[in-house]
Amino acid sequence: MRRQRNAKIIATLGPASSDAETIRALFEAGADVFRFNFSHGSHQDHQARYDIVRKVERDLARPIAVLADLQGPKLRIGQIAEGKVMLATGTEFTLDRDPTPGTASRVCLPHPELFDAITVGQSLLLDDGKLRLQVLASDGNEIRTRVVNGGMLSDRKGVNVPDAVLPIPVLTEKDRRDLEFALSLGVEWVALSFVQRPEDLHEARVLIDGRAGLMTKLEKPAALDQLDEIVRLSDAVMVARGDLGVELPPERVPGVQKRILRACRQHGKPSIVATQMLESMISAPTPTRAEASDVASAIYDGADAVMLSAESASGAYPVQAVSMMNRIIHEVERDPLYRNLIDAQQEAPLPTRGDAICAALRSVTRIVGAVATVTYTTSGHTSLRAARERPTAPILSITPRLATARRLALVWGVHSTVSPDVGSVDEMVLAATQIAQREGFAQPGDQVVIAAGMPFGEPGTTNLLRIAGIEEIAAPEKRMSGVPVKEAKASGPATLPT
Ligand code: PGA
Ligand code: MN
Repeated sequence: MRRQRNAKIIATLGPASSDAETIRALFEAGADVFRFNFSHGSHQDHQARYDIVRKVERDLARPIAVLADLQGPKLRIGQIAEGKVMLATGTEFTLDRDPTPGTASRVCLPHPELFDAITVGQSLLLDDGKLRLQVLASDGNEIRTRVVNGGMLSDRKGVNVPDAVLPIPVLTEKDRRDLEFALSLGVEWVALSFVQRPEDLHEARVLIDGRAGLMTKLEKPAALDQLDEIVRLSDAVMVARGDLGVELPPERVPGVQKRILRACRQHGKPSIVATQMLESMISAPTPTRAEASDVASAIYDGADAVMLSAESASGAYPVQAVSMMNRIIHEVERDPLYRNLIDAQQEAPLPTRGDAICAALRSVTRIVGAVATVTYTTSGHTSLRAARERPTAPILSITPRLATARRLALVWGVHSTVSPDVGSVDEMVLAATQIAQREGFAQPGDQVVIAAGMPFGEPGTTNLLRIAGIEEIAAPEKRMSGVPVKEAKASGPATLPT
């Protein structure tokens, strides 16, 4: 099975998408990566979904990535007496350390670290920005505010502090437990919420210890001041427009999105545009035209992936939402303007052997009209650098490591396959051409361009480019030994460990 598009789709799993039929249908409709949202659900729920995803992967013999999205330090107010209360615009409202249920004049803010960090004149946003408070005074025990935009306030609503860098760690106790659990499951990607500074990534990096890719969610304005460094230290970046759009005025979000996507392309890091992409499909079988346009714009801007949240997790039309995204991406990528825009954002290769080979891969592919670019990779690095070049033919990535194949499911243009290491250039060419045919990328008479590194199987050695013509797949007895292409197919991603 191969997708007819480059950009990828992430679908969040939740109550509307936890049974085996729906998860399989989501994958078949186009979901490449499944997101587990650790803000909701028990470890048992995630375990059950994980087992189903791996079964779908085995049944359909295609590597699938799982993304564990950690809740992070989401700030919330305490309880309100009677559950909710009306805050009138213009009145005073105090946040304090007193856990007794709140009233129309005060509520507990159960985050002691905040009291010293908040200063006069700053804004506090409640309930996804629906209510706005302005700070009048703060003495370390109480934050006195004026209600600028009033409204109904209920228990445990979220608090956003857009103007401050908060002295809070990016991993809470719950995040640490969830992270350990997610890694024990075997997820390929971990997303960190509310990253504010480059240093926020260090602890997670150490805890993850190479077991998953580290995805930064950009949803704090403060993080944009050090965007370049944060992108450099991340393995992937999500434009998390839900919280970002609360902390920034709506008119600033589109420009910030483009800036983040540009930085990711420069660094060759996968980029994801997330939240409210097809929001109305939570309750309707078709999106608004503005939503279709939003998904399309992210693709024209070169995003690696677009993401569904509630649309697939708790909406009434999860599979339709994925098919809609699939169709929008397909349509954009057929538009000649898409190629112009992608080429216009081309970044110069770094002066490394790997980048030199990948730049040549792109150029040779175009000149000879190759039907696929084949990348041999161990860590995934060569396929990522090839994706940064945005070649005109799909990237058929071959790796002996299942974890690498799964992780690359997120990346623009990459079709991941698992196949044992080769021992010589002849074996490499034979395996590449056979896999290209088997996976539906090439037919006899076509050409593919292959990037690899010698010695084979050693990471960081990319130094070889080869143009190969496709011949009929050799009969089994004529195949060279050591290229178990047929076996790889029979066991293929079907050799996926359970
Ligand atoms: P969330 O992150 O859904 O976990 O809040 C995405 C966003 O904020 O856009
Ligand atoms: Mn968020």
